[in-house]
Amino acid sequence: MYHNIGIPPKEAKLRGLYVTPRMFRFQMWYLKQAGFQVVSLKEIVDFAKGGNARGKNLISLTFDDGYLDFCDNAFPVLKKYGYPATVFVVSGLAGRHNLWDADGLGVKKALMDWEKIRFLDENGITIGAHTQTHPKLGSIATDDAGREIFGSKAQIEKQTGGRVDFFCYPYGDFNGAAVQAVKEAGFLGAVSVGRGFVFRGDDPFTLKRIPVRLNTWPLSFICKLHSDYEIKKGRPRQA
Ligand SMILES: [Zn+2]
Repeated sequence: MYHNIGIPPKEAKLRGLYVTPRMFRFQMWYLKQAGFQVVSLKEIVDFAKGGNARGKNLISLTFDDGYLDFCDNAFPVLKKYGYPATVFVVSGLAGRHNLWDADGLGVKKALMDWEKIRFLDENGITIGAHTQTHPKLGSIATDDAGREIFGSKAQIEKQTGGRVDFFCYPYGDFNGAAVQAVKEAGFLGAVSVGRGFVFRGDDPFTLKRIPVRLNTWPLSFICKLHSDYEIKKGRPRQA
């Protein structure tokens, strides 16, 4: 799970949302050296559902929010290695900025416009939905949550002319009704911010992920991939 690929500006709070271009290049290089197969989210969902026999050492790369820095700092690296990836865009804010947390973070981060989104869609990047305005789906009225989920899918499909198969819950916040709406909208799967690996039999509508952050140094990155560190982090804390 990535957000920004770039150098955080001095004033930015929650700097952990950034990964520097240099670290990102290392991480992509490492995945290849270590023999991981970087696959589409579709393959991960198929694996969770019991298909996809080659399900060992599979990795899928996801980028939340659709920041413009993806185009300059991540896309060329992904292209170099031939890695697929999924970018989850906030459909009502294309071409604008992170209105949902700009005040809190003290930084306006540019979001891709539709032209950029279409370009990526035509160049091997899967475009996923991340609602229209980035609300906490578990904390708003069920009808509003439904509109955010169905509406974002429809809007991206209209703009790209393709199917949108994957959804990402803003803040990883969801309830049963939101998951139900994601299923009813026709998505094949959805990602959460629950930490850990995806195992066979896991619910494809609440897929776990591994956060990569500004302070994910090479050794941390390697620990996240090769040990049960993330599984332990993902367990509910004992009281
Ligand atoms: Zn988000």
